[in-house]
Amino acid sequence: MSDSLSNSTFSDQTTGTHQLTNPTLVLNCGSSSIKYALISEDESTRITGLAENLGLDTARIKHTKLDGKKIEISIPGGRHKLALQKILELLEQYHFIAVGHRGVHGGREYSEAVRVDDHVLSEVKRLKILAPLHNPANALGIEAVQAIYPDIPQVVVFDTAFHQTMPPVAYRYPIPKALYEDEKIRRYGFHGTSHAYVSERGSALTQAKGPHGWLTAHLGNGCSATAVYDGKSLDTSMGLTPLEGLMMGTRSGDVDPGLHIHLKRLLGMSLEEIDKMLNSESGLLGISGLSNDLRTIEQAASEGHADAQLAIDMFCYRVGKYLASLSCAMPVFTGIIFTGGIGENSATTRARILEVMRHFGIKFDAEKNKSLVGGAEGSFQSADSSIELWVIPTDEECRIAQETRQALGLERVE
Ligand code: AMP
Repeated sequence: MSDSLSNSTFSDQTTGTHQLTNPTLVLNCGSSSIKYALISEDESTRITGLAENLGLDTARIKHTKLDGKKIEISIPGGRHKLALQKILELLEQYHFIAVGHRGVHGGREYSEAVRVDDHVLSEVKRLKILAPLHNPANALGIEAVQAIYPDIPQVVVFDTAFHQTMPPVAYRYPIPKALYEDEKIRRYGFHGTSHAYVSERGSALTQAKGPHGWLTAHLGNGCSATAVYDGKSLDTSMGLTPLEGLMMGTRSGDVDPGLHIHLKRLLGMSLEEIDKMLNSESGLLGISGLSNDLRTIEQAASEGHADAQLAIDMFCYRVGKYLASLSCAMPVFTGIIFTGGIGENSATTRARILEVMRHFGIKFDAEKNKSLVGGAEGSFQSADSSIELWVIPTDEECRIAQETRQALGLERVE
């Protein structure tokens, strides 16, 4: 393994066509999975993989090689440490020159990507209180790389960083100010790399004169929407934690804050039980009683399942209502960008969300909308629409690699 920032190029031996020059390793360590990507400096080539079911008998690594061939490595019972060791072994030959981590919660301190040192690592650990599932996994990822490659520079790109431009009217809660001043209780926002990536891409693709005002709707298993004006987040739907805002796969999104005390009095539920219910048993799963996966729910709804139909109706209504309210944050409204597994693939969901926003003069081409699925990128507004409508597949790994190189002062070589 090279420990310097020297030039290194790797080609697929069979075809010689894939160039992986000076790659950056991107690690996204979640609570029970690790997504990774090795991305060339010109962003044209990548090796990707996923370690999943960590801690279970079915733990495995699904790895896509440079030539596109897929392999699966079983690591029964393996946790983060073992998975990371195996991933680093698989990638060792490619001499990556930097590692970029997706960090979930960076608190108030980090407004941009930051190079890892002892202080940053201790902050990632300390902020476990705000992201109990993700920050400990982030720290394990950093330490695994440090242990094997102490000289490779590492960077953390926090999900919260992009939203540090929000003004106080958007990020404060109307609660006693000492809770903000002493305890840093405020809205932080998440999915920052995705909102940053798609809004920047939207501004590169549109013909509209800038500065642009985008509403970005990241709709996947986790869902959030952001108002991005002139490249800056001005408001977003997630808050202190990723539970606030839109209805999601298993998360409720907004509920009456009085719900907790009511359930405690009514059912004797503990705060932990209520937290688990709102994070893991609610949203599309809670309403449909079937699944957190929209494909399953759409199928059931088409067969007349009433709860599945209500789950879809509620999901679309809440997204449309949130987008309408977030439009208040921006001086101009250029358009809406849909992304995430649902936003990129479900044309019917996009259409129904836009129907909810019926007072905005939005008009779209139904056929064009239907064609934008499965990774397609494009716009689908009609000529007489008040705003633009885009589907832009998100690429958080690419954005993390870009920010990592920037934070380390590594220039892109064309
Ligand atoms: P993500 O978390 O971004 O991977 O998105 C996961 C969500 O995208 C799940 O709810 C999936 O059901 C949904 N999804 C993925 N593909 C489709 C599709 N073709 N149609 C509808 N929903 C989809």
